[in-house]
Amino acid sequence: MTAKPVVIVGGGGGGDAAAFALRKKGYDGEVTILSADRDRPYDRPYLSKEFLRGEVEVQKVFLHDEAEYKQEKIEIRLQERVVGGSLRDRTVSLQSGVEVRFGTLVVSTGGTPRRLPDAPDSYNVFTLRSLRDSQAIRDALKRGKRLLLVGAGFIGAEVGASARQLGTEVLMVESAPVPLSRALGEEVGEIYASIHRNHGVDVRTATTVTEWHSYGGRVTAVTLSDGRREEVDVVLIAIGIDPNLEVPRVLGLPIEGSGVRVDEGLRAADGVYCAGDIALHPHPVLGESIRVEHWEVAKHHGRGIATSIASGHARDDLAVWRGDKEALRFSVFYIRGGLIRAVLSINDKKVNEIGGKLIEGRRPVDEKTLADVSTDLSELVPTAAS
Ligand SMILES: Cc1cc2nc3c(=O)[nH]c(=O)nc-3n(C[C@H](O)[C@H](O)[C@H](O)COP(=O)(O)OP(=O)(O)OC[C@H]3O[C@@H](n4cnc5c(N)ncnc54)[C@H](O)[C@@H]3O)c2cc1C
Repeated sequence: MTAKPVVIVGGGGGGDAAAFALRKKGYDGEVTILSADRDRPYDRPYLSKEFLRGEVEVQKVFLHDEAEYKQEKIEIRLQERVVGGSLRDRTVSLQSGVEVRFGTLVVSTGGTPRRLPDAPDSYNVFTLRSLRDSQAIRDALKRGKRLLLVGAGFIGAEVGASARQLGTEVLMVESAPVPLSRALGEEVGEIYASIHRNHGVDVRTATTVTEWHSYGGRVTAVTLSDGRREEVDVVLIAIGIDPNLEVPRVLGLPIEGSGVRVDEGLRAADGVYCAGDIALHPHPVLGESIRVEHWEVAKHHGRGIATSIASGHARDDLAVWRGDKEALRFSVFYIRGGLIRAVLSINDKKVNEIGGKLIEGRRPVDEKTLADVSTDLSELVPTAAS
């Protein structure tokens, strides 16, 4: 059976993890990442922290070297925005007009930072999502003396802390009376605001920008809702994201609120998966569907999707042999849905015992590793810490 081509829309946390995990799990079909970004996938959390502060250089921020994509036969096509597609025809279409066929589709398109409708489109007014955004803010902070942060959420807080470390004055304006109170509760939100104040951030809560003052194409000052006028050199608007749902929408995937509804296997339709910030997925413990904007969650989604795709391709039932058939000393692992369901051994007691533990561990195991007698199977048994 020839593996169906997997097309991944989005070269971020979820998309990149899915591509590499597919190879790790032995998927040998075509894997293509289509990414609107100008750069190959990078570690987004660095962008408001170490990279912004100039502590790590750009090479460290990339998730993989260019050579690794070649080595793993992952085709990565940058600056390719998907703008259309059809589930019936199994195609997505690019802005350039080109159509790309898929057997299985993974959509992990992340989100776009919200802007304030009245904020001018000036070169010193930023939002932060991409590596290029972070580079531009980093450069602007080198020249600017005072940063205005609109929004005291996680991104605003991290950039505020980074800017303070760089010696920049920071004015943080937050419309809510207590920062992050919806996410963390009022008490924690107050503590959080006081930590910023102790680090020299001028935090103004229950405050908004009412007027923007520009000169020579740049914002030079703002008037706040308390009537005060504040001079600023750099502005970052950090008031959250809108998940990028254009692709799910054109494909007719089920959209609910601000996410795409997926099942426990992150499936939104037959052979179509969604990961990361856009996925509204059933939470096994909470018993409700949630959408989470976290780096590790996006990567975990990508890896989980890869397991489903790779194990689906490996047929429903599979027998993996290990040992010497002729000498009647061998074991056979029976695999279904990517997991070992049973093990039969002839004169191979140790492997049989480990096989039992692997069944209990309920972790996907690579077929080639199982079959390779030079591998130590006990290393595959999950420990309490893994
Ligand atoms: C500055 C910053 C710091 C962060 N820090 C943390 C942190 O410390 N901890 C944490 O848990 N989370 C953090 N996050 C959040 C985390 O990065 C995201 O939750 C995560 O990246 C989501 O992964 P994703 O794959 O859904 O989207 P993304 O990583 O955003 O990737 C989306 C990709 O899709 C591409 N794309 C979008 N539309 C299209 C299209 N139509 N066609 C083709 N490609 C498209 C984009 O160009 C991008 O490459 C941070 C986010 C930012 C911006």
